[in-house]
Amino acid sequence: MKPESQKCLMDMFPCLFRRGPCFSAEHDFFQFEIGEGWFNLIWELSIKLHPYFEEHEELEIHQIKSKFGGLRFYTGGLPKDIACTLAGFIQAAEHESVTICEVCGEEADPERTQYVTLCPLHHVLRSQGIRT
Ligand SMILES: [Zn+2]
Repeated sequence: MKPESQKCLMDMFPCLFRRGPCFSAEHDFFQFEIGEGWFNLIWELSIKLHPYFEEHEELEIHQIKSKFGGLRFYTGGLPKDIACTLAGFIQAAEHESVTICEVCGEEADPERTQYVTLCPLHHVLRSQGIRT
């Protein structure tokens, strides 16, 4: 993800992205191991999660990455009473991620989501070795 997009998420949702093992206070950096195309997906998920993170200081994000073409969003410290609710939000975003190009955010090509989720254009570019 672009540095300015990362900064935007960190500034808007400090309770999510300014604590936990992915955050380095020294470098003012949160490790998002995903492409720019999923920015909106993370934004929408953050809107749902942040009231819970504000209320529960023990909640933290352990990792955000792409695996087999899908979003993986790992959290820790979930209190039992809200664990199901938060897992539901996260699972919905993870399911949605396989329909969104990780590079540009356009609709993904459903035939080609085994290792990375891309739209038809980015699939062609990547198959030709062109990275955008
Ligand atoms: Zn694309």
